Amino acid sequence: MQERIWLSLAQMGGGEQKYIQEAFDTNWVVPLGPNVNGFENDIAKFLGEDSHVVALSAGTAAIHLGLVQLGIEAGDEVICQSFTFAASANPIKYLGANPIFVDSEEDTWNLSPEWLEKAILDRKAKTGKSPKAIIPVYLYGMPAKMDEICAIATKYDIPIMEDAAEAMGSTYKGRQCGTFGEFGALSFNGNKMITTSGGGALICRTEEGAKRTMFFATQARENRPYYYHEHIGYNYRMSNICAGIGRGQMEVLEEHIARRRAIHTLYTEQLAECQGISVKQNPSTDFDSNFWLTCIEVDPTLCNGKSADDIRLYLETQNIESRLLWRPMHTQPIFADCPYYGDGVSERIFERGLCLPSGSSLSDEQIIRVANAIKQFISE
Ligand SMILES: *Cc1c(COP(=O)(O)O)cnc(C)c1O
Repeated sequence: MQERIWLSLAQMGGGEQKYIQEAFDTNWVVPLGPNVNGFENDIAKFLGEDSHVVALSAGTAAIHLGLVQLGIEAGDEVICQSFTFAASANPIKYLGANPIFVDSEEDTWNLSPEWLEKAILDRKAKTGKSPKAIIPVYLYGMPAKMDEICAIATKYDIPIMEDAAEAMGSTYKGRQCGTFGEFGALSFNGNKMITTSGGGALICRTEEGAKRTMFFATQARENRPYYYHEHIGYNYRMSNICAGIGRGQMEVLEEHIARRRAIHTLYTEQLAECQGISVKQNPSTDFDSNFWLTCIEVDPTLCNGKSADDIRLYLETQNIESRLLWRPMHTQPIFADCPYYGDGVSERIFERGLCLPSGSSLSDEQIIRVANAIKQFISE
């Protein structure tokens, strides 16, 4: 059996151990510490746009704290892209609020501006109130149509909480994903663009927002000599050890992004002649995905009847890991009661899509092995 090819493995840069050693040497083996500040500054510098970054224990925690600060409360409605990972929507439920799921459009696979506006208008008609926040997601790193989405958000005065967990380094019209909304969430889970072995960050527009985020992330303790609380707090801060890994990873972030994009280009070339397989591309030069994962759409009628899942199962026999796309939230049993606005675009894409191995440590030879396995299988 050939060596296993994984979907998206973490890749260390080499500098991580130095920062962790420093933490041990100075006995900063605690939440907070110099690595946390250093990591936050590195990310803020990378993002530009006057970003203020707070490192947290997970991307999910970042979304949660963003929604807390947008004042989401029990019974409120929050619009969320349906085509995503459950972590985009779960924090809405943590707050007792109700997700309103909106479909994607074909160009980016992300939030459809048309359905977004229809959803807002219908919720206003049905409940007399606007939804309290909008959560667009950048699936597999692809930027959403942010001009249109931001224009609608402004028109109805609804804040945006960006889920940029998969999109570190992706840009829309030259601007980093995560810097468009009131808040933006990043993830440093093991398989994302960079990792802290598990972690996330909330990107805030203002220094004040960042201070509030730190306040909520450290148990919402008021400034008094004794423990005194006016708000429900959380224990969501990143540890100084994890942030040390993050600082090392920031040294190689640009390389990781370049490599994921090169892998996408190589797949595009290798699969160019496969009629029934299309590699998802940036819809125009306004969009510059980090191509966290390269995705394909499979047309079984042009692939000898082979579906995306057939290809997944075949790749598995070749010791290659691939993954079906996120199954839309409005089709998940746990969210079955939530309102949904759309016409089945995300379901159609889900049926046909597959994520290919895209980790930055993969070699050209490994990518070609994956592409050849697909070509071999669909020609049978
Ligand atoms: C990974 C991911 C998250 C959650 O991030 P964690 O750091 O794993 O909590 C949220 N949304 C999307 C779209 C993700 O891919």
